[in-house]
Amino acid sequence: MSMDRETACRIYSLLLKKYDDPGSPRTFLEFENPYQILVLTILSAQTTDRNVNAIRNEIFERFPEPEDLAKARTEEVEAIIRSLGFYHAKASHIIGTARSLVGRFGGRVPRTMEELLTLPGVGRKTANIVLNHAYGIDEGIAVDTHVRRVSGRIGFSSHPDPSRIEHDLMRLFPVEVWGNLNYLLIRHGRAVCTARNPKCSECPVRPDCAYYSLHSNCVEPRGSIRPRRAHGRPETLQTHSSR
Ligand code: SF4
Repeated sequence: MSMDRETACRIYSLLLKKYDDPGSPRTFLEFENPYQILVLTILSAQTTDRNVNAIRNEIFERFPEPEDLAKARTEEVEAIIRSLGFYHAKASHIIGTARSLVGRFGGRVPRTMEELLTLPGVGRKTANIVLNHAYGIDEGIAVDTHVRRVSGRIGFSSHPDPSRIEHDLMRLFPVEVWGNLNYLLIRHGRAVCTARNPKCSECPVRPDCAYYSLHSNCVEPRGSIRPRRAHGRPETLQTHSSR
């Protein structure tokens, strides 16, 4: 990791300025309590938050408390979450998690990383999201596909592995901004630094972006840039000077 903290904080300030909409929710999943954000985050693997939000009413009307989900028939849960993909595994995970909450934690969602990681289907990303959104605890930084991609392009981390990326982000940024950093990188990844065609011409952080610096001069005849492989994945960048 070559980026220094001063540059990282400057980038953070620019992203904050761009995406700090007063009153906008800081989460993308619609939840009302720790149990709901835990279940929804497990279900959000390999699908969009919009898809998960679309089934949230049905799942929590049918299983409003961990005790209800712990007693659920697998087939009934699968029928509700089928649209999310991987529904066999996800049903098993959320039922198993509910049984653990009831059996080992008195029906409550635990408040520590160590305990959360014992639940089926819960890794560091899910645990970080639950701790931050449910309890305001910042023990780490959730690294999803947007955080991973944007962090790699900007130069916060040169690693493809989420746990190494999280480690690099935690070294670069003070703990006070960890939760908000996840939010800002996801917003940026969705709106500007998109997977297929990052909109570098609209991006406020391009003066400090490693990806932009590396690729902005490689303009091909038709005005597009075909970057070299970045972190093992071929990507196409729309030039900031497209003609
Ligand atoms: S300059 Fe381009 S690649 Fe860099 S963060 Fe902005 S949109 Fe992403």
